[in-house]
Amino acid sequence: MGSTSIPCLWITFFLHLCSLMNTGKAQNAKEVILLDSKAQQTELEWISSPPGGWEEISGLDENYTPIRTYQVCQVMEPNQNNWLRTSWIEKGDAQRIFVELKFTLRDCNSLPGVVGTCKETFNLYYQETDSEVGRNIRENQYVKIDTIAADESFTQGDLGERKMKLNTEVRIIGPLSRRGFYLAFQDVGACIALVSVKVYYKKCWSIIENLATFPDTVTGSEFSSLVEVEGMCVSDAEEEADNAPKMHCSAEGEWLVPIGKCICKAGFHQKGDACEPCGRGFYKSSSQDLQCSRCPAHSYNDREGLWRCDCEDGYYRAHSDPPSVACTRPPSAPQNLVYNINQTTVSLEWSPPADMGGRNDVTYRIMCRRCSWEPEECVPCGGNVGYSPQQAELVDTYVNVVDLLAHANYTFEVEAVNGVSDLSRTQRLFAAVSVATSQAAPSQVSEVIRERVQQRSVQLSWQEPDQPNGVITEYEIKYYEKDQKDRIYSTVKSRSTSATVNNLKPSTAYVFQIRAFTTAGYGTYGPRLEVTTKEEASASTIVSSEQNPVIIIAVVAVAGTIILVFMVFGFIIGRRHCGYSKADQEGDEELYFQFKFPGTKTYIDPETYEDPNRAVHQFAKELDASCIKIERVIGAGEFGEVCSGRMKLPGKRDTSVAVKTLKVGYSEKQRRDFLCEASIMGQFDHPNVVHLEGVVTRGKPVMIVIEYMENGSLDAFLRKHDGQFTVIQLVGMLRGIAAGMRYLSDMGYVHRDLAARNILVNSNLVCKVSDFGLSRVIDDDPEAVYTTTGGKIPVRWTAMEAIQYRKFTSASDVWSYGIVMWEVMSYGERPYWDMSNQDVIKAIEEGYRLPAPMDCPPGLHQLMLDCWQKDRADRPKFDQIVGILDKMIRNPNTLKTPLGTCTRPISPLLDQSTPDFTSFRSVGEWLEAIKMERYKDNFTAEGYSSLESVARMSIEDVMSLGITLVGHQKKIMSNIQTMRAQMLNLHGTGIQV
Ligand code: AMP
Repeated sequence: MGSTSIPCLWITFFLHLCSLMNTGKAQNAKEVILLDSKAQQTELEWISSPPGGWEEISGLDENYTPIRTYQVCQVMEPNQNNWLRTSWIEKGDAQRIFVELKFTLRDCNSLPGVVGTCKETFNLYYQETDSEVGRNIRENQYVKIDTIAADESFTQGDLGERKMKLNTEVRIIGPLSRRGFYLAFQDVGACIALVSVKVYYKKCWSIIENLATFPDTVTGSEFSSLVEVEGMCVSDAEEEADNAPKMHCSAEGEWLVPIGKCICKAGFHQKGDACEPCGRGFYKSSSQDLQCSRCPAHSYNDREGLWRCDCEDGYYRAHSDPPSVACTRPPSAPQNLVYNINQTTVSLEWSPPADMGGRNDVTYRIMCRRCSWEPEECVPCGGNVGYSPQQAELVDTYVNVVDLLAHANYTFEVEAVNGVSDLSRTQRLFAAVSVATSQAAPSQVSEVIRERVQQRSVQLSWQEPDQPNGVITEYEIKYYEKDQKDRIYSTVKSRSTSATVNNLKPSTAYVFQIRAFTTAGYGTYGPRLEVTTKEEASASTIVSSEQNPVIIIAVVAVAGTIILVFMVFGFIIGRRHCGYSKADQEGDEELYFQFKFPGTKTYIDPETYEDPNRAVHQFAKELDASCIKIERVIGAGEFGEVCSGRMKLPGKRDTSVAVKTLKVGYSEKQRRDFLCEASIMGQFDHPNVVHLEGVVTRGKPVMIVIEYMENGSLDAFLRKHDGQFTVIQLVGMLRGIAAGMRYLSDMGYVHRDLAARNILVNSNLVCKVSDFGLSRVIDDDPEAVYTTTGGKIPVRWTAMEAIQYRKFTSASDVWSYGIVMWEVMSYGERPYWDMSNQDVIKAIEEGYRLPAPMDCPPGLHQLMLDCWQKDRADRPKFDQIVGILDKMIRNPNTLKTPLGTCTRPISPLLDQSTPDFTSFRSVGEWLEAIKMERYKDNFTAEGYSSLESVARMSIEDVMSLGITLVGHQKKIMSNIQTMRAQMLNLHGTGIQV
């Protein structure tokens, strides 16, 4: 075979060939090379079969680096079948393998004498195996890849012209399934030099694209396949929402079709293929933002990589504020707050704050507090007060506060708030005003109960309105027949919270409505109540047989007698109790009734009970001690402390209560006497009698729980507010006390200790009779009076007959009431001042009576004197007293007192409230005597240093001293006038009046 081969030909062209190869493309970075014959400098030692076929020949490239080639050139002999097999190639990750062959092929035409035997192609095969197999080449185990032909062949002449024709052919095999493979070259009689064999596969190399790292990825097995690869965000970056980064690795090892991306997290921004933290003083709030931004106004940060900046001290960011807006602060207080009072409505208006805090979401909220007469005792107004348009989140700079109590002190605070007000811990800034409401009509009577429905009458009862706004002097019941076309209505009046409407038609539907009256006028009518009177009983229902005239006559006679008895009885009752009076009518259609229903409750003396505990539980509700929360001590009672507290009964609203406690270590008698007050109080139900809530007897301490009267006892209350009320207000208080006493006397109860100290005052200035410890019952017989065998008698308040022979009656209570009137009109002055009890008794016996207090309307003093009539039968009844006071309230002109004209009693005691000026050496002494020493400086400052100069003062002069309380102006002026009169008497000289 050696003679037929042409090996010598190769040596010469081979050197040239190598230089050609080095000018080819550089190694492609996407390729992973499995075999490169050129890279191996030692012998390849591939297997060649049969011997004499392929031959391994060494050469040098242009760098004189040895390269290994295989050649075959058996062109002279026919039927050549020369195999060359590579060493075993491990395929690694590859699925598709590229085989690149570089070879030269001799043109058969250029070889003489080879026609028929010379070929210009060779065949390429492969065999897959999991490991190396033996050195024998088993042709049938090879799979043919292709027949390889030369694009270019060369001739001898080409060689001479240095035209080397190097062919490069690339074939692809795969997908492969075994661990490795062999390549084989079959020569069938060509003249070939296999210059290089390179086997490789393709990979997409790891890259960072859109801030995501994509790992090295081997291409897919098919030519057309794209391998989808998920990217991983670089550090401090995150996937864009719903847009995870992906790329596709093509068969060519190229990354194609990028989808989605990563973005730098909040606090970081992109620099090249990485995310870097925002610098100090910068922030980036969201991954969506591209750039870091400078901290907004009033914020800062001193670290890197922050998503927002912190607010400076005193500045805040509302929860809804994005980090990009400036930090802000609460607004300053609203300005120029002004108010306007209309009865029980207060309108407030203000201007916006000077500093809105850097925001435009400023709104206003109102804080309402009701204050007792002491300014520091203020409580929130609660839910009964209304705000229009609303209490908080006001956009406009005004609000109307409605449904306030009449004659009450309020403080309103208007606060401007913005989105950061609730975050700020600095002090609230607000504008405030104190306001006193004026008179207002009572609120609606809403809860009306039908007590008893008869054929011709309907008995109703109702609750006092929630907001009486003063003392209710009467109720008006309006009614009409429901089906009557013209709706002509009638009215009936009642002084208590119940009434019976008579003269109705049987079987007729009536509509009733009730409204309350105070000095401020009528309230609005409450809701309509429909009541249908009962059917009239026909004679046939009474008498079973119409045919029996004897029975009919008897029945008629009996009925007539009954009616007659009722008429006479009704007349008497009417005379004694009802006070029916046409003269009191305001309109012809209005009738005036004051009803005392037959069957009015009568007071029962608890001492008539053998077991006093039974009496307590008959009249007083047993309360669970857990419902009572004691808060503070407010007074000392005879048996223990009196406390204020709260009571919360199941299903009811929590209320303020006063709790009288029985001190520890009590005797059984003390317990009985203590609870006796509850047994008495529990029998009463009247708006002017202190209401018993219940008792706690099954626990310790034993307690009596009473409605809470915010202003405490009347005497102390008046002394505290000397000169501060109008006469109408004082008379209103007296009217309430009289109404309470009328109720008690109607029940047959004699109080025996009626005095201002035993009257309690609530926050609406409603006076209620209290202190039932000493009281005793009157028998049914008006002449039968209870006399005690001992006990203390409050001499100054007690009628003569009660002091002398212990005759306590409602008439002696009337005497005491006269003293209470005097106490009220003199703002808590002690009756008979510092006279001893003995002197008082003596003076009274001699016919002396207390003089009119300062500025007392003459009519009122006259009423006092009437109460102090020696003969108790001559004293007015409480019922009459209430009537007289009501008239005064309705005609305030009757209460006007010309200064210094108060009627004096026929035989007055020395009027100690207008002392003798001759006993004073200075204006200061005089002021002390009339208890006006607080104005000493005012007099001195204006140069009134002598009593003479004071005696010349007019009311305007007094006012110009800066004395603002009207009561005090009047008191001082009245004393000046007395002084002036005394001077005239003394000197008979002219002081101009
Ligand atoms: P008494 O034992 O009833 O004389 O009560 C003693 C003091 O406790 C009274 O002078 C009042 O100051 C006070 N007090 C009694 N009851 C009440 C009440 N219901 N509400 C408020 N204070 C009360």
